[in-house]
Amino acid sequence: PAFAALGLSAPILKAIAEMGYTTPSPVQAGAIPAVLEGRDVMAAARTGTGKTAGFALPLVERLSQSTPAGARKIKALIVTPTRELAAQIDDNVTAYSRHLKLRNAVVFGGVKINPQISRLSTGVEILTATPGRLLDLHSQKAIDFSDLETLVLDEADRMLDMGFIHDIRRLLKLLPTKRQTLLFSATFSDEIRSMTSKLLNNPVAVEA
Ligand code: AMP
Repeated sequence: PAFAALGLSAPILKAIAEMGYTTPSPVQAGAIPAVLEGRDVMAAARTGTGKTAGFALPLVERLSQSTPAGARKIKALIVTPTRELAAQIDDNVTAYSRHLKLRNAVVFGGVKINPQISRLSTGVEILTATPGRLLDLHSQKAIDFSDLETLVLDEADRMLDMGFIHDIRRLLKLLPTKRQTLLFSATFSDEIRSMTSKLLNNPVAVEA
């Protein structure tokens, strides 16, 4: 299929063309329509498969339809294990939404927290974060999850390997239970499968 056939609208198709993407990758062809329909998704996909666009393009599309300009509350949260991944994802979100009015930001540990608090206070609809810093910011009351619509857990297997399971459990208790959840993982161990069955509601399964 072409990107246009997956249900993406003109401003996003324009941004995709400007990035030089011509054909959706398999994980994109599987995930994009499902995410646009509001379904939960579990995707088996490694880095390099185009998985970031698989969740970020439909998230941007949905928010561009549902969010009045300047809604300024977090609607979509993308959680990923490392600052490099977080920065890359946020760069992609910026590129995909460049012809739209959505606001995005990235937060991760190892740098000063105050600039992140200031940035969040200006209002952001799509936030990409590493788990520890995200919880710190929440405990400092810099983040309001009450309007959250979609949670993405990226590289779920690596988050567990890196010992983030307690942070993820704490985070889940802070989020609205009525939401869309997307889980991307390179591998599906028993632990990931059990997390998936607890977290996802009738998910669409996608493979790269
Ligand atoms: P990812 O697997 O999300 O880390 O993406 C790997 C690389 O492929 C990134 O540089 C993306 O910008 C690029 N990419 C993603 N989707 C496509 C596509 N459909 N066509 C060409 N390049 C793509």
